[in-house]
Amino acid sequence: MSKFWSPIVHTLTPYVPGEQPKIQNLIKLNTNENPYGPSPKVIAALQAEAADSLRLYPDPDSSRLKAAIAGYHGLQVDQVFVGNGSDEVLAHVFQALLKHDKPLLFPDITYSFYPVYCGLYGIQYETVPLNAQFEIAIDDYLRPNGGIIFPNPNAPTGIPLPLADIERLLRANADSVVVIDEAYVDFGAASAVALVNQYPNLLVTHTYSKSRSLAGLRVGYAVGNRTLIEALIRVKDSFNSYPIDRFAEAGAIAAIQDEAYFQQTRRQVIASREQLVNDLQALRFEVLPSGANFIFARHPSYAGEQLAAGLREQAVIVRHFRKPARIADFLRITIGNEGQNQLFMQAIRSVLGV
Ligand code: PMP
Repeated sequence: MSKFWSPIVHTLTPYVPGEQPKIQNLIKLNTNENPYGPSPKVIAALQAEAADSLRLYPDPDSSRLKAAIAGYHGLQVDQVFVGNGSDEVLAHVFQALLKHDKPLLFPDITYSFYPVYCGLYGIQYETVPLNAQFEIAIDDYLRPNGGIIFPNPNAPTGIPLPLADIERLLRANADSVVVIDEAYVDFGAASAVALVNQYPNLLVTHTYSKSRSLAGLRVGYAVGNRTLIEALIRVKDSFNSYPIDRFAEAGAIAAIQDEAYFQQTRRQVIASREQLVNDLQALRFEVLPSGANFIFARHPSYAGEQLAAGLREQAVIVRHFRKPARIADFLRITIGNEGQNQLFMQAIRSVLGV
């Protein structure tokens, strides 16, 4: 605390990201990174960029990347906004679109960055409890609000929401913005991008960190009606005229262009997830249905904290959330490659003593 701080700084509770351990050789299944690494074409594009262009400033409009994203989704360039990871895109979204007289609504169990943004930008919000099956219950959102945001699939549960539910929400909620955070959508949910031309109140955010395996590059984007995108551009232009750097733009474009690699690695993650679900169920774990590159699971006889600590002793790290109490017995386990998943299963058997 300091008298030099602005009053708002005293009220902030910063986001605590998953651990990035300094020790090598850990089986790192705690932050939903992709085990396969980016396409070789991305590496080649980054090398070419390093050789040719680092002397020059980046394009302040990221025009080539926006055109590539628009082309990929069948949209117009002015329906696309890009930033340094979807976290930064979301920061602009909260500031530009979600501060109103009525409270913003989001699930009580969801991406824990949302309340942090609300604190930072002075946005009032209300959390809506997940139902008994840990699902987002759309009927609970059909009331006056200053905007709605949730991930699909939700995090950390991994449960996907059908597009029909999202459409129902969009129709019932035409006077405020609905933001669908599709960080994990490529692993098993229907994308709402297909609806953006139909619903002017829909904004969808994506990241290159997960299904494109570029968490270290920091690229994310939003697509929606051009008036929503215009609001984001106004906020961005107020303090930063370079949305992303030259590496990020070149790497993301190369990733979009390698569809075969994307499909192959995405399918591999999904297949490994199904295997891991079966293996854990055989050990009596309850595993929530996942459409993501992670699963959320609990054991009837062991506390979550105990399991996470036991795994850690065997050099396996997964994510454990102490709060809220309702999820304190769950572990969030990122899907690794086959070798990592096998080592994870060995470690968990040893913790359970089976
Ligand atoms: N949304 C959700 C639901 C996430 O889990 C994450 C990853 N922590 C993000 C957005 C942000 O990802 P990034 O900033 O790497 O694009």
